[in-house]
Amino acid sequence: MKLAIITGISGQDGAYLAKLLLDKGYKVLGVIRPNRNRELSGLNFLEIEEKVDLKELDMLNQKAVEKLVEEYQPNEFYNLAAQSSVGVSFKKPVATFEFNTISVINILEAIRLKSPETKYYQASSSEMFGNIGVENLPLKESVLFNPASPYGISKASAHWITVNYREAYGIKACCGILFNHESCLRGENFVIKKIIRTALEIKSGKTDVLELGNLTVQRDWGYAPKFVEAMWLMLQQDDFKEYLICSGEVTSLRNIAENVFEKLELDFDKHVKVEQSLMRNVELDIIYGNNSKAKKELGWDYDLSLNELIDTLIKDEKEYMEWKVKKVN
Ligand code: NAP
Repeated sequence: MKLAIITGISGQDGAYLAKLLLDKGYKVLGVIRPNRNRELSGLNFLEIEEKVDLKELDMLNQKAVEKLVEEYQPNEFYNLAAQSSVGVSFKKPVATFEFNTISVINILEAIRLKSPETKYYQASSSEMFGNIGVENLPLKESVLFNPASPYGISKASAHWITVNYREAYGIKACCGILFNHESCLRGENFVIKKIIRTALEIKSGKTDVLELGNLTVQRDWGYAPKFVEAMWLMLQQDDFKEYLICSGEVTSLRNIAENVFEKLELDFDKHVKVEQSLMRNVELDIIYGNNSKAKKELGWDYDLSLNELIDTLIKDEKEYMEWKVKKVN
């Protein structure tokens, strides 16, 4: 039986990846931060909390990370833990940069010293590309980074240290450069989750208004449960390389929000207000990618259209909201 360690198992991708690996027969060890007293709702919702082992660990403590890797000798190590919000990174740049980079070096050092055969996946982000010119669109793996937020800069550093450990020490490490991917397990402060949840609350009369920031941004949004499949596929290859994982379809935030309201038969103009305080310090106007390398070399079979994605997210969010109500009662 293969053993996989997942950091960030309490987050969106961690929960879906844990489910995928358990279904494939892996033993899964999830790393959570010490004294974490919030419930693990993602694992709970997917009904796998009892099926994974959990270990509290301070990932900034190098000795503790080394001990973990030495003790478990994992076949695969998926590093998904990060301060993952661009907006929060402007408010907490030091904590974002420190955690998102030092934790990565600690793991890579631990693998180099204690378990060099362990395969390592690093969660890189399209935010590393930052303000690229439109002539570079759709993005490919070869486009240079020009990050425009503390989050993007931290992820770019983590990305390059991962590549460096592969090149310098032969560590079986690679980075998945993932574009925005959504699900009902997305953090409450992320915009697609907020739009769908609030629209459903407006529909049920629980609230009346949805406040949003910049609606003109254009992005490439995908479905999280399909994106974690690409992470696993990347660690099943003989060569360890970087891949863009994205839907390949681009649209504006306004279009997504209007679509959600239309599908729920709600009046967009009546309920949606643009709130200046939700605007970012620096905003990427448009970013989308080309997923053909991942499809061709990994056999990754992403084929959800934007329309199907929105339908799926609304359906999943309804289920999740019902599950939460049942849990409380
Ligand atoms: P998420 O839901 O925000 O989960 C982040 C995870 O990191 C949580 O388990 C969180 O633990 C943990 N974490 C955050 N700060 C920590 C700290 N200081 N110490 C220990 N653990 C900490 O993120 P996600 O959407 O699953 O994304 C997974 C990874 O992919 C992240 O690295 C993210 O940056 C990257 N990524 C995501 C997207 C996307 O669209 N979702 C796109 C590109 C890249 P707590 O629950 O204790 O806070």
